[in-house]
Amino acid sequence: MTDNGTRVIEVRTSARETLVDVTRDVAEEVARSGVAEGLAHVWCPHTTAGITVNEAADPDVAADIVTALRRLVPPDGGFRHREGNADAHVEASLVGSAALVPVSGGRLALGTWQGVFFCEFDGPRTRRVEVRLLGR
Ligand code: ZN
Repeated sequence: MTDNGTRVIEVRTSARETLVDVTRDVAEEVARSGVAEGLAHVWCPHTTAGITVNEAADPDVAADIVTALRRLVPPDGGFRHREGNADAHVEASLVGSAALVPVSGGRLALGTWQGVFFCEFDGPRTRRVEVRLLGR
């Protein structure tokens, strides 16, 4: 944990585009924080990755999200960005950089099938996820 209370989770991704379930890591930070009632702000400080909440029970859902984003934003889509990873930047913006998850009874108050996913669009890389707890 940093001086300002930010908790950092390191995520190693294994493919160019993949969703990584980080629910357990976020839940551990909630437990360590001692916050019982409030919000967990899960933040991705990268421009070619993001955060989303979706079904964690069936891993095919995460794979389908990757497939759908690839269809929407093909790598050879005629983009201008010279770095060659414009598709990854666009996908990151579509997904968004953060999730705000309720905390209740000291635990993440996710729906039965929900999980928090780190969304990699330009891996494999070592990435960071920042968690900030707001509450009491
Ligand atoms: Zn770029």
